[in-house]
Amino acid sequence: MGIKHNEILIRYGEIFLKSEAVRRIYEKKLVENIKNSLKKAGIEFEVYRKRGRIFVKTEEILKTSKILKKVFGIVSFSPCVHLKTSKKEEIIEFFRKNYIYFVKPKKTFALEVKRVGKHEYSSKQLAEEIGKVVRRKVNLSKPDVKIFVEVRDNDTYIYTKKIKGLAGMPVSTSGKVLSLISGGIDSPVSSWLGMKRGCKVVFIHFHSFPLVSRASIDKAKELVKLLSEYQGKSKLYLIPFSKIQMRIKTLAPPKYRIILYRRAMVRISEIVAKKENAKALVTGESLAQVSSQTLDNLGVINEAATLPILRPLIGMDKNEIVEIAKKIKSYEISIKPQEDCCTLFTPKHPATKARLEIIKNIEKRLKLEKLIEETIKEAKVEVIS
Ligand code: ATP
Ligand code: MG
Repeated sequence: MGIKHNEILIRYGEIFLKSEAVRRIYEKKLVENIKNSLKKAGIEFEVYRKRGRIFVKTEEILKTSKILKKVFGIVSFSPCVHLKTSKKEEIIEFFRKNYIYFVKPKKTFALEVKRVGKHEYSSKQLAEEIGKVVRRKVNLSKPDVKIFVEVRDNDTYIYTKKIKGLAGMPVSTSGKVLSLISGGIDSPVSSWLGMKRGCKVVFIHFHSFPLVSRASIDKAKELVKLLSEYQGKSKLYLIPFSKIQMRIKTLAPPKYRIILYRRAMVRISEIVAKKENAKALVTGESLAQVSSQTLDNLGVINEAATLPILRPLIGMDKNEIVEIAKKIKSYEISIKPQEDCCTLFTPKHPATKARLEIIKNIEKRLKLEKLIEETIKEAKVEVIS
């Protein structure tokens, strides 16, 4: 039998860089995000905030820990025992009775005592006296168990583990973005990185149903469901793209198809973004990863947008992206086979140096404006949680 933890102490980081007023907004959002995630998981809990820490009181420590690992803005957390006292004698008494639950026979320990607030003893004094009642061997450099004691005003928190969180910023503190999600490996990762920097992400997926099966739609939904574990409810726009693709395929030279698809996607995404009040687009493009992702091509794609296009993967190697994809478990979903709307009509040799004037001339012939309007009308929106 171990000691029963009754609370979780949560630490958050970057937030401290901000001014007092901004910090308060950030803390509030983080608390709100924690509450929403726990509610969604059906956990009973209470949350309170005190001097730069957040505390969750719950009977379901393990389940709660699992959830907290997916909340952006948390740097680390510790399941702990909360004693509602800062009296030295009572803390010592607690250890006298319970040290056997913290350090097993023949194991070594070390103590780290921290205090916030005014007390009649120093941290060192408290550590020494606790040390006396814990009848196990001390090993300061390589203990089997490290016991942390935090005395905070009139409370004491005791724990042995610091579990790493995702860090980053609380979702929604940076505003909203619209992420283009394809079903490939990259775009779920770029969406996740957007969330990590505090963005609430709305998703848009372009599909070629009925030219191909619904596989890409199902995949996009599955990915959005997974990603919604990190931000709560997510909106997914499903855009039927086959009419636009067919027109591009029929009227434009093959080597420019990808650029033309991308520019059409960007235009449609902008309309959706404005409706959603999203302030930027996010894509999974990375520089020079494939022949269509050259600086020249990215420049031509950007020209179709007025909103900024964020590319969180721009400097990453494929294996770095795959590593994140595996960590967040989007990888297994992404590698399921699928014909996506771009592989369908992808030329063997896409242009690596598209020239804007040429592209614009082709677009004049394509007259996509009306088709784009119709396409938006046919869009389906799903809320996924
Ligand atoms: P991914 O693995 O995300 O598909 P990729 O390396 O295969 O990326 P591309 O296929 O060239 O690269 O696509 C670049 C980016 O354009 C994608 O990361 C995504 O943001 C966007 N995109 C491509 N196809 C679609 C689609 N069908 N629906 C929505 N966005 C798309
Ligand atoms: Mg792709």
